[in-house]
Amino acid sequence: MHINDAVFLEDLCPKFRFRQWRKSIHRFTGKSCIYCGKPSESIDHVLPRCQGGLSTTENCVPACLSCNGDKSDENALYWYRKQKFYDPRRAMAIRAWLEGDLRLAIRLLQWANPNFRDNDKGYEAAKSKYKAA
Ligand SMILES: [Zn+2]
Repeated sequence: MHINDAVFLEDLCPKFRFRQWRKSIHRFTGKSCIYCGKPSESIDHVLPRCQGGLSTTENCVPACLSCNGDKSDENALYWYRKQKFYDPRRAMAIRAWLEGDLRLAIRLLQWANPNFRDNDKGYEAAKSKYKAA
């Protein structure tokens, strides 16, 4: 049984599990920063660890190094509102993520970024052609 083997391996090796978890966080957003949409290179603790923030999926979002470093220990939503690249859809996505509703968060991110899914590219191209005509 493959599934049982995987569980066994993860139990034996917490580091392996941690790496898998980090990967899965990045995969949720298609490896893009939840704040600005650039490639995510790090995991940001929304509630900083120094303020008791846990390394749980609800508290950890994919972020680029620039956002992660700039935000530092500030409240994520408060910091985000002050950014030039602020997008209310992303703000809603971040809120949904923090509430553990990843499905809603991902939908909102897709809405904020039409290139999020490759399948949508054809549709977008067709639409801009239509507009130009
Ligand atoms: Zn960013």
